[in-house]
Amino acid sequence: MSRFWSDIVHRLTPYVPGEQPVLAHPVKLNTNENPYPPSPRVVEAIRGELGGDGASLRKYPDPTARALREAVAKHHGLRIEQVFAGNGSDEVLAHAFQALLKHDRPIRFPDITYSFYPVYAQLYGVEYETVPLNADFAIDVDDYRAPSGGVLLPNPNAPTGRALPLAEIEVLLNANPDAPVIIDEAYVDFGAESAVNLIDRYPNLLVVQTTSKARSLAGMRVGFAFGDAALIEALTRVKDSFNSYPLDRLAQVAALASYEDQAWFEAGCAKVVASRERLTSQLQTLGFEVVPSAANFVFAKHPAHDAATLATTLKAKEIFVRHFRLPRIDQHLRISIGTPAECDALVAALTEIVA
Ligand SMILES: *Cc1c(COP(=O)(O)O)cnc(C)c1O
Repeated sequence: MSRFWSDIVHRLTPYVPGEQPVLAHPVKLNTNENPYPPSPRVVEAIRGELGGDGASLRKYPDPTARALREAVAKHHGLRIEQVFAGNGSDEVLAHAFQALLKHDRPIRFPDITYSFYPVYAQLYGVEYETVPLNADFAIDVDDYRAPSGGVLLPNPNAPTGRALPLAEIEVLLNANPDAPVIIDEAYVDFGAESAVNLIDRYPNLLVVQTTSKARSLAGMRVGFAFGDAALIEALTRVKDSFNSYPLDRLAQVAALASYEDQAWFEAGCAKVVASRERLTSQLQTLGFEVVPSAANFVFAKHPAHDAATLATTLKAKEIFVRHFRLPRIDQHLRISIGTPAECDALVAALTEIVA
């Protein structure tokens, strides 16, 4: 604390990202990173951009990320005016709070969801109400009919992994024609249905995606928003009042190359999904209750073992999972899907612990 701090800094409770352990070979299942590398074309594209001497780095990148946005627009059947690119979807979400969610009425999001949402709300002075998930940790879209300044939810939800069918997203959109509805699809490629195809019919819909999870590019920081051109313009206005060059040169070419290798992307997602199903049944055999997941993680609790203790015991074995000290979920662990070998190491450790 310091007398030089502004008022807002005194009041902030920052988001706490999952630990990035400084260990040679941790089994790292705590931040939902992809266990597989990105397409070799991504590496080639970065090398190509660097050239022999890195001379291109002298120059600022394209502030509009036009080539990347064009490729991603084409991928989703959208126009380039319907695509916004940011420095990770966290930044895209931050801009959305400022550009689209600050109105007279509070915004609404689930009580159990991505813990960055309340942080951005606080940072930007956006009032919010949380809407409880039901007892099965499912979102009931009928709970989102009250007038609000906007609705924000991940699909699949985090950290539960539960997905909403597209028909339910449409119910949500029809129930909220006068408010922006933001669907955070960070994990959509692991088994949920994207709302991107609804964009032409719902001018209040903003879909947020990232290359961090399914495209193995968490280290490059590239995220997107898709929506009506007017919504995208709002984000662009905030972006150009904050940082004109959010995506560096390497990030732009890397993300573009990832969209050019659809086969690699699909094979990677399929491997993660297969491991998720295998891990789910192994955890169930050990007595865990596992929430049905459409994401690259599972959310599980053991009726006879305290979750915080489990996390600490695993950490001592250099296996990292995520535990949230939050109401309703402090007996759960969020476990990212690793390689088959990493999942096996986790199952072996848990077998020992719960025996
Ligand atoms: C991981 C995640 C993000 C942020 O991803 P970026 O790496 O910033 O693109 C956004 N929303 C949810 C729900 C996430 O889990």
